[in-house]
Amino acid sequence: MTTLEQGTGHGSGAAPAVPVTVARGDGIGPEIMAATLRVLDAAGARLAVEEIQIGEAVYDRGHTAGIDAHAWESLRRTKVFLKAPITTPQGGGFKSLNVTIRKSLGLFANVRPCVAYAPFVPTRHPKMDVVIVRENEEDLYAGIEHRQTNEVTQCLKLMSRPGCERIVRHAFDYARRHGRSKVTCLTKDNIMKLTDGLFHRVFDEVATEFPDLLTEHLIVDIGAARLADTPEAFDVIVTPNLYGDVLSDVAAQIAGSVGLAGSANIGEHAAMFEAIHGSAPTLAGRDVANPSGLLLGAVMMLVHIGQADVAETVHNAWLATLEDGVVTADIAGPERAPVGTRAFADAVIARLGRQPAALPSVTYPAGSPRPTGTATAPRPAPVKTMDGVDVFLHHEDRDPAALAALLRSAAEGARLHLQMITNRGVKVWPDGIPETFCTDHWRVRFQSPRPGAAGRRDVVDLLDRLDRAGLDFVKTEGLYRFDDEPGYSLGQGQ
Ligand code: NAD
Repeated sequence: MTTLEQGTGHGSGAAPAVPVTVARGDGIGPEIMAATLRVLDAAGARLAVEEIQIGEAVYDRGHTAGIDAHAWESLRRTKVFLKAPITTPQGGGFKSLNVTIRKSLGLFANVRPCVAYAPFVPTRHPKMDVVIVRENEEDLYAGIEHRQTNEVTQCLKLMSRPGCERIVRHAFDYARRHGRSKVTCLTKDNIMKLTDGLFHRVFDEVATEFPDLLTEHLIVDIGAARLADTPEAFDVIVTPNLYGDVLSDVAAQIAGSVGLAGSANIGEHAAMFEAIHGSAPTLAGRDVANPSGLLLGAVMMLVHIGQADVAETVHNAWLATLEDGVVTADIAGPERAPVGTRAFADAVIARLGRQPAALPSVTYPAGSPRPTGTATAPRPAPVKTMDGVDVFLHHEDRDPAALAALLRSAAEGARLHLQMITNRGVKVWPDGIPETFCTDHWRVRFQSPRPGAAGRRDVVDLLDRLDRAGLDFVKTEGLYRFDDEPGYSLGQGQ
């Protein structure tokens, strides 16, 4: 039982209680959730808590994603989820609960503030205050992978314009609402000109709607190096899924506070709030775990549901607690005596209404954030034409010239002509050099002599000819133009 109101009634204040779904999770989850809910209750959070069970017990009942139909029903109704960490079972057959929830509810934005609390939590970057906004659904995490030949596997990197627009707009909206001054975009568009190039282009477009904010774009490798070296130079960072996954852990670590960080996963229809750490099974049941990460996740939830006043009260009391040297064992170090999970929550409750003295106090924007959708003006559909096709072959012989001869003979009389052969993106025909290492996976490019003049029938005809010549094609990619702009990389990789 929580001390907050159960069911769908109204809290003690005049404003109606907001239904939220709560899961106590596994390991240290129940202890840190109890501590968190006690603080929220004492601070006057207007919540109607609905509890669901997720994690180990549900996996054990045979639900491979650790969540059942009853829990989904609650989540889809309340649309707000405060989640304690769960233990992911080892071994095959189980799916990650977080990935399942994120994908099913379309939680496209992961927002993770990474803040230093020096000198109360030791860090080499005392002025660090960075928010990482990570795209959560696309990029290499679509989970579309194939083994195509004996030697080669591939993973598809998918980036959509609506996906880029809503994450970038979410980052700008967040920056403006939270009084931030700069948004930095990190991509690798010097190499991935189409996919990361789209993210960068959308960033530049959306930036024009936020002239009050400074913007910059950095290539992710130098951006990551600078983040690790001078994190105080950054404010809000927006980045695609994979880079964001890596960088948000780096940022939390160098802030000195992995155990203190909360995060939000936001979608158009629902949102989930949690600590960034796991269920720490070895600490479970010992009243030693730090509830701060989950508590700060809950603060983000309060802002999301329009209870900024309560969020400020809780967050400032928590800062005052840190300043008073009240810390759990993970932060205490050798000089300070730690308190337990329950005592830490009591200390925060005792400071409700207080502001921190040395650390900056927090203020949060009133009102609920507007839902972030794609919300851009509809664009006219571009004219799509086709130049030809890239055919990928599984071919054991490693002689490019011999393969070219085979292909030309097989495609004799076809409307599409052989232009180029690459191996792992490096051009090996025409004009290859013998030093290039080749695998059994070849890309052979066939094009119509006139741009835009190819058709699907030409591809079918070409494939039929290759099949009859005994060539093992493992996939094709159309070479399209959109309003006459080539929608494919032109040459070899870099
Ligand atoms: P973990 O985050 O649980 O623990 C890493 C280290 O940090 C451990 O030393 C732990 O004792 C310590 N720690 C973590 N949270 C703490 C807290 N609140 N207070 C004090 N110390 C804390 O990571 P792990 O050990 O790799 O994973 C344990 C389990 O958690 C695994 O089953 C994993 O799959 C799961 N996990 C769940 C989530 C989630 O539900 N969101 C996230 C990460 C890991």
